[in-house]
Amino acid sequence: QVKERGKGHYRFYQPRMNADLLARIQMDHAMREGLQRGEFELHFQPRVDLRRDAVAGCEALLRWHRPGEGLVMPGTFIAVAEETGLIARLGQWVLHNAVAQAARWAADGHPLQVAVNVSALQFEQAHFVQDVAQALQAHGLPPHLLELELTESILIRDADEALGKLQALADLGVALSLDDFGTGYSNLTYLKRFPLHRLKIDRSFIAAMPEDGVDAAIVAAIVQMGHALGMEVVAEGVERAEQLQPLRALGCDHYQGFWFARPMPAAALAALLDAATPGHDDGAGTPPR
Ligand code: C2E
Ligand code: MG
Ligand code: MG
Ligand code: MG
Repeated sequence: QVKERGKGHYRFYQPRMNADLLARIQMDHAMREGLQRGEFELHFQPRVDLRRDAVAGCEALLRWHRPGEGLVMPGTFIAVAEETGLIARLGQWVLHNAVAQAARWAADGHPLQVAVNVSALQFEQAHFVQDVAQALQAHGLPPHLLELELTESILIRDADEALGKLQALADLGVALSLDDFGTGYSNLTYLKRFPLHRLKIDRSFIAAMPEDGVDAAIVAAIVQMGHALGMEVVAEGVERAEQLQPLRALGCDHYQGFWFARPMPAAALAALLDAATPGHDDGAGTPPR
């Protein structure tokens, strides 16, 4: 299009491209400063067992208290961090803080598995498996209380290399999940080869359940396939009560979603766990169903 419409068109876009680049450079700079100043925080969203109706784990989700901007969501800064390479340090910060939090909860009588989202650059680093082992050791966390969430695009970039790392992580005792399942290439050969423990069905398939028969059929197929391959299946993005019964009927194991709880600070999740634990409280704080 640029060529067809001539030089004028190109010149029109040039300042704007520079402005975008400048904005990304400024954001990268602000993130580096923010890391040093402690502006980042993890929120945690419960993962709920559909049969027992109880919290079975949680996912750590990164938040940025950017001065003057309030709470900034990962959708606006993770992509920039991936582009500039800062995601390696940011990811390392997330790993350590999530593992530290899981260790505190375990010490407080709540051995809750905490999931960490791993980005491509982080996973591709030669020392990634070592980083994970070190984080576990530094905080004394039993490996099964850590879950790593990967996406299909990460795994198929270099499948042989990925397989070796997944095997090493599985040998450590860490749980491995495939995030946003159904949105990527969904290469079934890899699914069979990789030592994955859990499939997380992307929320785009859950959103219109149960009304949309096609989406419901896709979810049913994913649950069956996941189980046939020995994996647990998690539905992401459950927002309405009507979605629970169909998911249960399909045999889906767990769910996450605003219906049960939005991602929340660590202290809020601790309060929710305390309230749900018999003897910890008066029981008045039973979580919503
Ligand atoms: P994700 O890993 O698929 O995380 C789930 C996202 O869905 C979260 O958005 C969560 O708040 C949102 N969600 C949960 N339940 C519902 C629901 O019922 N309805 C709707 N509409 N959304 C729901 P969030 O926290 O904004 O994170 C977005 C994405 O950013 C994550 O998607 C993940 O890919 C990435 N991300 C977040 N934290 C990290 C991190 O520490 N490291 C890396 N590499 N990526 C991260
Ligand atoms: Mg995730
Ligand atoms: Mg994701
Ligand atoms: Mg997801």
